[in-house]
Amino acid sequence: MEFQDIAYEVIGPVARISHNRPEVGNAEGSRLLTEMDQALKLAVEDDAVRVIVIAGKGKHFSSGHDLKEGQEKFADFTVEQRFEHEQLYFFEYGFRIWDCPKPTIAQVQGACIAGGFMVANMCDLVVASENAFFSDPVCRTLSCAAVELLVHPWVMGLRRAKEFLYTGRRLGAREAYEFGMVNHVVPDAELEQRTMALANEIAAVPPFALKLTKRSLNRAFDIQGFRNALASHFDIHQLAHVSEEFKAVTSRGYVNSSSRPQQKAG
Ligand code: ZN
Repeated sequence: MEFQDIAYEVIGPVARISHNRPEVGNAEGSRLLTEMDQALKLAVEDDAVRVIVIAGKGKHFSSGHDLKEGQEKFADFTVEQRFEHEQLYFFEYGFRIWDCPKPTIAQVQGACIAGGFMVANMCDLVVASENAFFSDPVCRTLSCAAVELLVHPWVMGLRRAKEFLYTGRRLGAREAYEFGMVNHVVPDAELEQRTMALANEIAAVPPFALKLTKRSLNRAFDIQGFRNALASHFDIHQLAHVSEEFKAVTSRGYVNSSSRPQQKAG
């Protein structure tokens, strides 16, 4: 399969799916997300693949959804069109990562913002480099109710998630580690090697046992309401898209008001 916006590599027992639009901070357009979903399916169906790494080529993991594409193609969406679009690209594709029967590891450097934050956090484990930072600024910058998948309180705790979302501030890799959101923080130059070492360690574990263990751990979250809470938030998020506050921002051109890494260094 030929991909344009992602890179798909199989390295021994590990499949690595990388955002591959470094020139735009690995912004997640619809084609990129579709390709990521197709690559995930390839990796699941390949018996030789035991562990899946989701990464980003270049300086950043991902700056989030492709707001330029959003403004050009989706700005005039009806409520119905946006609901269908976001349900497929963000909710269903996101849950396919969560539900993937093989272990997944997010390998994160640089910016991991909004949509990128969702993708990374739907993975089982997160390995971050020292320079990685996480952010979901859309409440502040877009007048939107967080991103589509409100995974935040589940991965960092309720109070931290509230501050993170209310302020839109950046969370550094070390702080994310202290919050329990990140498994390991490693030197920038060692990110790929350390992630692959962890992936290979897990790849040596019997795959059916891993699959059952993951299933049970995820189900423990489901029993606490994870899936229903995210489904409920998705609907609330759709309401935010038709608010006067959101319209006021988008009518000004929301690409300019976003906090893309190339526009706000740090
Ligand atoms: Zn949305």
